[in-house]
Amino acid sequence: MLFLMMTPQQRRLIEQLQRLHAAGEPLNITAVKRRHPDLLKAVMAVTPYWGWKRALEDAGIAYTRIKVELLDGIECALCGKWWRQLPNHLKWTHEMQSDEYLMDYPDSDLVCEEIRAREMKKEAKVVPHWEPLWSREYTLDRLAEYHRRGIPIHSSGLKENDNTLMMAATHHAGGWREALTAIDLDPEQITRQGYLQLRRYPDKQSVIEEIRRRQQEGFSLLSRTISKKKERSHTYPSLVRRGIEYFGSWPKALRAAGFDPVTVREQVFRKRRHYPDEPSVIEALQRRQRDGLPVTHADVAKGTFKDYALQKAIPVLFDRWNNALKAAGINPAEAREQLLRKNRRYPDKPAVIEAIQRRNETGCRLIMPTY
Ligand SMILES: [Zn+2]
Repeated sequence: MLFLMMTPQQRRLIEQLQRLHAAGEPLNITAVKRRHPDLLKAVMAVTPYWGWKRALEDAGIAYTRIKVELLDGIECALCGKWWRQLPNHLKWTHEMQSDEYLMDYPDSDLVCEEIRAREMKKEAKVVPHWEPLWSREYTLDRLAEYHRRGIPIHSSGLKENDNTLMMAATHHAGGWREALTAIDLDPEQITRQGYLQLRRYPDKQSVIEEIRRRQQEGFSLLSRTISKKKERSHTYPSLVRRGIEYFGSWPKALRAAGFDPVTVREQVFRKRRHYPDEPSVIEALQRRQRDGLPVTHADVAKGTFKDYALQKAIPVLFDRWNNALKAAGINPAEAREQLLRKNRRYPDKPAVIEAIQRRNETGCRLIMPTY
């Protein structure tokens, strides 16, 4: 923040920070809380939320250059003696469990700062720790820093990104909601933003842009195609859902993007067809005829020799099936006859002769059965 944009109060605090830093005073949060609690309180009270981290930044003091003070002992509130950690001492000297002790002294710690700092260093986080210890102030600073960096801090996002910070918010700030409120953020708004961020297409404009991008890159605009699994590398299937949600229907979304839904469907259909015009159909029928494949509607529509595209194209381009056959120079009656013959077990003279010979060779009877 520019020095001129700061309040007089902020400037005073900054000068104080600079003086302490110059005097070699430790400036990590827990040390300041011990030595200059009023200064820490005053910095944390600045609104909109400023925080210790940014106060140091604005004072031109790098966090990496500050002197850090960590206590290597912890005072037992019952006997006043110092220990590196309390649980065993409490158990043997005061015959007390740690949680009983914490009920009487809820703000107390059980392990000295030095050991806790060593543990905290091991935590691998999205953003490395800049403070050696957790505290309410550090928890708030960290949340504010995440928010500045655009790391999601709505509750489920935070749990996923840095659950330790979520736990710190509960432990040091009374909860996630309270922590956000303390840094002047609205938990409801943060949650809404979080869910919108999760959305691949957060608004009308993003849907329109994606539709146009698909069109430009030659991908289909049919809702059915977009929702297919194999399309997922091109577009997220939620595009159609969002389109319907924002515009009322997918055709309306297409229209909003400047496309006529009917034309879109026709274009796709034409592109998909293997037989875009009459000559291609004629050629296909003649090819089938040459290769000895059936050309009747029934056989093109289903069975071993079916050709779905051809079956679809003929009624569109020729109106009637026989018209297409005639155009291809095929006599429909002959084609049917051929088909019938083909389906016979013995379609012609040679087939009958061959069957008789085979029976003869294998010793089967050749006498006509009498009925
Ligand atoms: Zn004690």
